[in-house]
Amino acid sequence: MKQLGIYIHIPFCVKKCVYCDFLSFPADNAAKRTYMAALQEEIRAVARDYSAYEVRSVFFGGGTPSCMEKELIGDCLLTVREQFCVADDAEISMEVNPKTASLEKLEYFRKAGINRLSIGLQSADDRELKLLGRIHTYADFLDVYAWARQAGFQNINIDLMSALPGQNLETWQKTLHSVLELEPEHISAYSLIVEEGTPLFDRISQYPPLPDEETDRLMYHETKRLLAAHGYTRYEISNYAKKGFESHHNQIYWQRGCDHISNYIGLGLGASSTVGNYRYKNTDSLSEYLTFFSTPEAFRCEVQYLSKQELMEEFMILGLRRMEGISEAEFQRTFQVSLCSIYKETLSKWQAAGCLAKRDGFWFLTEQGIDVSNTVLADFMKI
Ligand code: SF4
Repeated sequence: MKQLGIYIHIPFCVKKCVYCDFLSFPADNAAKRTYMAALQEEIRAVARDYSAYEVRSVFFGGGTPSCMEKELIGDCLLTVREQFCVADDAEISMEVNPKTASLEKLEYFRKAGINRLSIGLQSADDRELKLLGRIHTYADFLDVYAWARQAGFQNINIDLMSALPGQNLETWQKTLHSVLELEPEHISAYSLIVEEGTPLFDRISQYPPLPDEETDRLMYHETKRLLAAHGYTRYEISNYAKKGFESHHNQIYWQRGCDHISNYIGLGLGASSTVGNYRYKNTDSLSEYLTFFSTPEAFRCEVQYLSKQELMEEFMILGLRRMEGISEAEFQRTFQVSLCSIYKETLSKWQAAGCLAKRDGFWFLTEQGIDVSNTVLADFMKI
């Protein structure tokens, strides 16, 4: 059977964080219930096209899935299970904001079949959290983490963010040490990107200064060093896991382009899907999304055919973010053409610069390459 990953977008948050450019907004319970009814209709409509697929991962993201009434998430997961062929050992993840979960809720989610939590902590420093507009404190997070363990979750990711306004190497180290004491199975550590159109971007001068580029790199290297010392393997530029706890959801997404595990569908407002040579995107308009219930096409505002060249670019860009890198054999199998015949010049150029290396048929970014990864990866889009 072909394999499939499912992403389910829950676009509701209690309050918008100042740096957030995700499709998310506050809503009352009535609006949330209406949305979930539409989402279930979409699940039923879309599932008809995927009877030949086995679902390897389901990911409730947002927004804040944990701000929903718990039964709405439980019912949605039940519908997914009824409509799709979900593998018995599928990874079923949910994002949690520490201010929106209780022991009772987490116990319910665990019983409903969610087996992995991704808790958005971002920082263990309350001042930094406040500046970001997060609604929780570090103490709130500690409660939720303890409840999650008590509820039986044995696979927990903690999301962290560096390069925050006013942050320095010392406060970042404190955050890392605090989190490491808890021994989560997985840690994601991204640098803040100040996106245009966010309140942080518009009022950046009113915030404490962002760390400079050098401090940002120091934070990155410190993350890698400390996490490695505590038994975490970095398997993607920003993701670290204890052995056997690499996220299936992430892997499906990053292995896009490889023919053995390459398809994921996004359900819900604004969600994107990539299946075979096609990319679909659902409407971003809530009123539009709530209007259509009949066919999958009705939800889609964009349908894009991906050419072989675009698929190759995606293969390279997503593949090189993984520490393992990309396999020449896999490239050949997927595209029926050798990697070097397409990318010889670019590979040689970055290999000579010390940013790419090759071992056992795999090309990967070196430490030096990771430091300038955006520039290196962008080069694979110019062929
Ligand atoms: S909790 Fe996440 S999705 Fe919601 S506003 Fe904050 S950053 Fe955005």
